[in-house]
Amino acid sequence: MKTLAARCLMCGKSYQLDEEYKDFKKLSEKNLPEATFICEMCSNKVRYESDEKRKPKKPASN
Ligand SMILES: [Zn+2]
Repeated sequence: MKTLAARCLMCGKSYQLDEEYKDFKKLSEKNLPEATFICEMCSNKVRYESDEKRKPKKPASN
């Protein structure tokens, strides 16, 4: 199985992506020694944080 070295832009961790990764083809086509991507953990975190922001906040009582 082919793998690809990629570093997460957010947490800086290095990963070996394999062909099952959704963006594997896209990243491997760039032919970089080390591709950059957003790892699953960080993308979950981003999604969670944007969900939190989207939640209507109760108006602050002045
Ligand atoms: Zn990450």
